[in-house]
Amino acid sequence: MEDGPKPGVPDHILARFPAAPRGPWADVPEAQWSDWHWHMQHRVRDLEGLSTVIRVSEDEARAAIASKDVFDIGITPYYAALMDRDDPGCPVRIQATPRMAELTPTPWEMADPLAEERDMPVQGVTHRYPDRVLFYVTQNCAMFCRHCTRKRKVADPSTAANDAQIDEGIAYVARTPQVRDVIVSGGDPLTWSDGRLEHLLERLRAIPHVEILRIGTRTPVTLPQRITTETARMLARFQPLFVNTHFNHPKECTREAFTACARLADAGIPIGNQMVLLKGVNDDPATVLRLNHLLLMMRVKPYYIFQCDLNEGNSHLRTSVDKGLEILEALRGWTSGMAVPYYVIDAPGGGGKVPVLPQYVIAREPGRTIVRNFRGTRHVYTEPEPDKG
Ligand SMILES: *Cc1c(COP(=O)(O)O)cnc(C)c1O
Ligand code: SF4
Repeated sequence: MEDGPKPGVPDHILARFPAAPRGPWADVPEAQWSDWHWHMQHRVRDLEGLSTVIRVSEDEARAAIASKDVFDIGITPYYAALMDRDDPGCPVRIQATPRMAELTPTPWEMADPLAEERDMPVQGVTHRYPDRVLFYVTQNCAMFCRHCTRKRKVADPSTAANDAQIDEGIAYVARTPQVRDVIVSGGDPLTWSDGRLEHLLERLRAIPHVEILRIGTRTPVTLPQRITTETARMLARFQPLFVNTHFNHPKECTREAFTACARLADAGIPIGNQMVLLKGVNDDPATVLRLNHLLLMMRVKPYYIFQCDLNEGNSHLRTSVDKGLEILEALRGWTSGMAVPYYVIDAPGGGGKVPVLPQYVIAREPGRTIVRNFRGTRHVYTEPEPDKG
């Protein structure tokens, strides 16, 4: 990458973010390795490609062939080289390589578990909450996550938003004054060129009732080279603008990822993280604690932990809600409140995000509320006397 984080981050912090390994790409010149276009053009797309990076398991090999028509394989060399060569249980590998279990959906799994298509006043814009919309602008991503909740569209070029659809989406936002927050999503909007994204942001920013813009992108995790200084500067022209990304495991917190986040943060762009709780990846408190500490050092605020959605072929990746609660219990009080995100279930059928919390209120009695703290000790809060007037 052409320049690292600005001075001000001490070496002992930087030392926690090792440069990513390069696997079979060790001889690729730096100029290409740091070029996001090169990574997009050299993505691992099939069994043959996988075999050059990892010792493909029998299950992965069968799935790579059988899943062809269901959900594409697409892994940037950067992210592929983070995979463990020998261990199919590697947390990066679980997110990136297909497994046979994906191909046997259970009866309760759905193509569109969040009913996003139902709540679309115009194609590509999901308007579910009173004051904000989710704007689907592309089907492409740097890496196709096996757990993606939008598998029904992502990676499928027939779902790409064409110019007419984008125009219609913008027109919808413009004629809907209650929309004060637009989440530009997909797919990954940063698979677009800077110029194309800039044009979209210009048009959204020109709408007077739009207060904040958000960009959902996993490129800081799967293609950090995408966040150039120029890109960060371009995004900063559209403040107030937030970036939400999707780190799931400490292994993803490399020096390259650190640099990408530093560029955004140095440009004044706040970054949030939306983790998905996944079996074998981050379903234990110690892993999430470590991840959230690393995120804070990257100036990324843990925003959400999502319970894994009921999309087709996800059953092997889902955990129990008890597991999520156990993780939250292990965070609150034990570490910085800054490291404690909301844990939410995105309610199947389009109910929206519902927060799930461990129970800290033990009893509510007239005039008092009894709580327990993170250590389990009991405390009584006496309520104010009711107003006599
Ligand atoms: C998640 C989501 C949002 C944003 O929700 P916040 O809680 O404001 O981050 C908006 N619209 C849809 C359809 C969503 O799924
Ligand atoms: S980056 Fe997001 S939209 Fe793209 S495949 Fe991963 S989860 Fe899905």
